[in-house]
Amino acid sequence: MARYNGPVCRLCRRDGLKLFLKGSRCDTSKCAIERRETPPGVQHYRRGKQTDYGIHLREKQKVKHYYGVLERPFRRYFQRAERSKGNTGDVLMALLERRLDNIVHRLGFGNSRAQARQLVSHGHITINGCRMDVPSYLVKVGDVVRVKNRVKSILAVKSNLAENLRDVPEFLTRAEDAALPEGHVVRMPTAEDVSIPVETQLIIELCSK
Ligand code: SF4
Repeated sequence: MARYNGPVCRLCRRDGLKLFLKGSRCDTSKCAIERRETPPGVQHYRRGKQTDYGIHLREKQKVKHYYGVLERPFRRYFQRAERSKGNTGDVLMALLERRLDNIVHRLGFGNSRAQARQLVSHGHITINGCRMDVPSYLVKVGDVVRVKNRVKSILAVKSNLAENLRDVPEFLTRAEDAALPEGHVVRMPTAEDVSIPVETQLIIELCSK
């Protein structure tokens, strides 16, 4: 599947859920979901009933859009979760939540996951003091996620932190008084730390076929 390049609010409307894809705008009254009770355009008035397959597929697409993950890496996460000893759905969500671009976003360093991904890939972030430019890097307990000691990096992140209206999730802490903005991974994330409702059973049924 090619990466979706259209207006991101359309994805929220299609999934009928706020996916927080547009940074700080998503927390304001300018959010397209908040402004309109019904999605605009004729595409909303779908004829017929949604198929069982459609319901399953929509759940998977919702998670992929939320984390900005394409089909092939998503399948790899699923296979890894399937091989693990725990509940496949819970492990899958925990793996996605551990992605570095997600962590950078949840710490408030990037206003959206897309922006956080760019911060990582452009080398603005370090892990335990070493540059890390791989957005799919999976964080571990004890990892210190810090902004690179460079004026451009610090200014970009500090302006995002000033705009950020969301709390840091429980599995992370953010050092407010550090010279360089930094966050710590205090425990592994769980499915409860995911901030959108996901019916993982539907994804498992679809991907196990
Ligand atoms: Fe979704 Fe954000 Fe657009 Fe609202 S503003 S519809 S949450 S992407």
